[in-house]
Amino acid sequence: MTLQSFWIGIDDTDSPETMCTTWLGARLINTLIKNRYRVEQARLIRLNPTIPHRTRGNAAIAIKASGDPDLAFDLACLLVDRYADLGCDKTHPGVVVSDNQLPADFYFQAVTSVCTISQAEEILTEYGRVWKGYKLGRGLIGATAAVASVLPDYTWELLTYRDEKLWADPRNVDQSSIFTADEVTTPHTWDSVDHTQKSVVCIPHTPDPVLFGIRGDSPYAVSRASSCIRSEPVALEQIWLTNQGTDAHLLPGKIGALVDGCSYRVPGTVTAKPETKRGGHVSLQVTDDDEKLQCMAFEPTKEFRQSVRALIPGDEILAVGSYLAETLNLEKFYLAPGNLPSITKAPVCPTCMKQMTSAGTGKGYKCRRCGLRTQDPDIIQESRTITPGWYEVPPCARRHLGRPLIRGPGYTRTY
Ligand code: ATP
Repeated sequence: MTLQSFWIGIDDTDSPETMCTTWLGARLINTLIKNRYRVEQARLIRLNPTIPHRTRGNAAIAIKASGDPDLAFDLACLLVDRYADLGCDKTHPGVVVSDNQLPADFYFQAVTSVCTISQAEEILTEYGRVWKGYKLGRGLIGATAAVASVLPDYTWELLTYRDEKLWADPRNVDQSSIFTADEVTTPHTWDSVDHTQKSVVCIPHTPDPVLFGIRGDSPYAVSRASSCIRSEPVALEQIWLTNQGTDAHLLPGKIGALVDGCSYRVPGTVTAKPETKRGGHVSLQVTDDDEKLQCMAFEPTKEFRQSVRALIPGDEILAVGSYLAETLNLEKFYLAPGNLPSITKAPVCPTCMKQMTSAGTGKGYKCRRCGLRTQDPDIIQESRTITPGWYEVPPCARRHLGRPLIRGPGYTRTY
């Protein structure tokens, strides 16, 4: 067998009813290992979270291995033929094999913006080895982007998968053991549970192969957490290197120059008190002096809305989220220090300890009892319910790509 290093990418094998491309990737890794390939890396790559054709979290996978690349391609296609939900009109798989990583620009475009199938095919024609698009072949976009991915920042996810016969059945996982796993491994793992909602968030509710997923900063941390979890038997398990939790989808943004379907960090000043709309959604308007931007914290972001409601006119913030239908859907924000509004009041007379009264417009204050005069009012700083810093949505509302603050803000330049 030729022993050659190569990359294989797969995407768009699932449907809302069944399957998951990461499961197919994990199956392929097992098959490659059984066939004496050396598997060097397994990547779970999330792409632009606003893409309308996505089934769930817009994931694709890429595997780096050594062995015969053409046989690996055939083995991957056999798995897609057998398991992809090809009957679903939304499922259009793509399988890509390349001797080298594909150009990083394509990954950056796919994680932040929109790509076309023909752009993927052009790259594959120039740099790829062998590829196959099923049906419309849209999965070639994600498969190509996964093989093109570069990870200046990365995290890990351990995914456990269920026996095929159980996919449609309720999952059997001891929820309290997940809280234990979180306690034992925090802050090295995150988003297994949501403490404020007192709920488990690492078990999907969809009829697919995933039993649970543990996200963390190292393979050791996610394995340690997983070892605490009591559940039905795990049929298959894979630790993925991933761009999840890195904010890879965010672009620097300027109010008035945002593109629909892209996600941004946008500086702006709050113009008015945030308003709570029907359904509990909170709306916030910010400006950069020239133009205005409508931001929303939707009801599913739960207690995050309290932080948004605490903003006041004049606050300088860095708003972070996806821009859709002329609205920035907030994922987090940074409140800059400095906006401490104050009110002025007539001072108290230091001799009589009585409140002085106005002596007339521009004439300062006078004590009615002893006649003492002063120009200076008392300045009282208004108390705030929010302090400068970062505020984020809770785990139950977090995007796969969203960087949780437990990892540090990851972004120090705020303006
Ligand atoms: P799966 O688990 O199968 O990966 P998913 O929720 O990740 O499910 P897909 O079923 O893969 O979603 O659907 C996403 C589709 O959108 C894929 O065909 C993918 O190639 C395509 N796609 C991903 N990112 C982009 C992008 N930036 N521009 C255009 N198409 C994209």
